[in-house]
Amino acid sequence: MTALSPQLKQATPVLAERGEGVHLFGADGRRYLDFTAGIGVTSTGHCHPVVVRAAQHQVGTLIHGQYTTVMHRPLLELTDRLGEVLPSGLDSLFYVNSGSEAVEAAVRLARHATGRQNIVAFHGGFHGRTMGAGALTTSSTKFRAGIGPMMPGVAIAPFPTAFRHGWPQEQAVDFALDELDYLLATVCAPEDTAAFIVEPVLGEGGYVPADTRFLRGLRERADRYGILLVLDEVQTGVGRTGRFWGHEHFATETRLPDILITAKGLASGFPLSAIAAPSALMANARPGSQGGTYGGNAVACAAALATLDVIREEKLVANAAEQGARLLAGLRSTAGAHPAIGDVRGLGLMCASEFTDPDGRPDPATAARVQQEASARGLLLLTCGALGNTVRMIPPLIVTAEQVDEALTLWSEAVTAATS
Ligand code: PMP
Repeated sequence: MTALSPQLKQATPVLAERGEGVHLFGADGRRYLDFTAGIGVTSTGHCHPVVVRAAQHQVGTLIHGQYTTVMHRPLLELTDRLGEVLPSGLDSLFYVNSGSEAVEAAVRLARHATGRQNIVAFHGGFHGRTMGAGALTTSSTKFRAGIGPMMPGVAIAPFPTAFRHGWPQEQAVDFALDELDYLLATVCAPEDTAAFIVEPVLGEGGYVPADTRFLRGLRERADRYGILLVLDEVQTGVGRTGRFWGHEHFATETRLPDILITAKGLASGFPLSAIAAPSALMANARPGSQGGTYGGNAVACAAALATLDVIREEKLVANAAEQGARLLAGLRSTAGAHPAIGDVRGLGLMCASEFTDPDGRPDPATAARVQQEASARGLLLLTCGALGNTVRMIPPLIVTAEQVDEALTLWSEAVTAATS
């Protein structure tokens, strides 16, 4: 008898038979509101008919056009279409399969382009589980314990996490920028530093939005020292936060990223990721240095084209902003009635509630109970944060006001059940 490896950790007991829109249908005969979206992937909902038709058509036309052997039309068309939504100047794209692989491609490009080794990542960030991307991941020691040494040449600077310190936001930003300067002065010489890599909203690290002054501070230092600014928009991109890219909430007059990483929501569930950069920068990527057998798969690219169509036709970015605001307001009102919820944060449809004990310390046990009570009531949720004491909501971008309200009712019941 073969069995699944114990390293597979499943957040809910559900065996999913079928998905439709915001719902999953379990082998237990129940219908679940899926506010996990497969960790932020099913942007257009489960099995959106436009995505299904495009993928089915492509399956019958060409499944695998290996892009280092032959080119295929879905990849070329997707490259044109992404040009319509990417920040101006990021006019060159390279495709792989997963977020981690794209992060690795960005690191290789940054090192090739600058001839420097060091990468500065920010504390609490999640960039993947491979040995390179994993070295940049500091959202929990579980991703590195017992498997080091990881990729060398990585330094970690603070991300502004006001709630964790009990500080006002301004103080958290001052601290993060001061510590970054100190790191560059004492550990990680600017002339040896290739890139800063940062998420516009800390994702796995606890759903903490970045800050305009913080990101502008990174841009200024990047310009001053010739360091590249890499934005990991794997979770925050493709409409998730109520803007097409998460960093647009913080973008100033100038362009923020030198390299932008996208994955997850891009193809509604098919494995596809990409890095985008100005062509003059991308010209430094050495041919064949990064890639893979399945990168830019034809069916995944066709699904991504359909995803972009659906996002535009159904105005899903605006919907994410509107429903995200409704969800956040509802979570804040639940928190008002439950002292176990220490903080509520979010941007668009990336919302979270952080559980703390009466002394204000992280309370992962309560968060886990709430998550289980929610699944038992038909609302699927995930936890996040270093200690797992934050419960997040990341529904598909098609979610309606009625579904948000239904989720909020189940949420309030689950919190009451778990804390009484
Ligand atoms: N970056 C971010 C911001 C992510 O949220 C994730 C996945 N949670 C990754 C990178 C890694 O992506 P993947 O799991 O597809 O390798």
